[in-house]
Amino acid sequence: MSGGQPAADCIFCRIARGEIPARKVYEDEDVIAFNDIQPQAPVHLLVIPRQHVASLYEAGAAQHAAFGKMLALAGTLARQAGAADGFRIIVNTGRVGHQEVYHVHMHILGGPDPLGPMLSRRKPA
Ligand code: AMP
Ligand code: ZN
Repeated sequence: MSGGQPAADCIFCRIARGEIPARKVYEDEDVIAFNDIQPQAPVHLLVIPRQHVASLYEAGAAQHAAFGKMLALAGTLARQAGAADGFRIIVNTGRVGHQEVYHVHMHILGGPDPLGPMLSRRKPA
């Protein structure tokens, strides 16, 4: 799976094509935002580019517009979802980053309570 190639069996491409349901909170021609199916915080959104890009390692100039939009939308989406007093953006990448879905996605995680330290000291399983 390389940047820009649509992946027939990619779960986030399937959400982008409307083939599987998602609780979408925003979409336009470049990006889609929806609720994470297994929320790790009271507010847990995912923002994805419509175009399939496996990970940040595959990203390049073709993604400038969509990735810029993803970040620029984060504050508005977080506030609309109820995280008006702060939130965290995470883009897990590759094996070391514990990426599970290989279609770039930006997590938006928010309170109301503080999220705790950035990295857990506990070793992942
Ligand atoms: P990551 O570890 O960064 O690759 O995270 C993948 C995220 O995608 C996890 O938080 C999952 O809960 C979430 N996820 C997987 N499948 C779906 C789905 N069908 N709808 C919404 N979120 C999903
Ligand atoms: Zn995809």
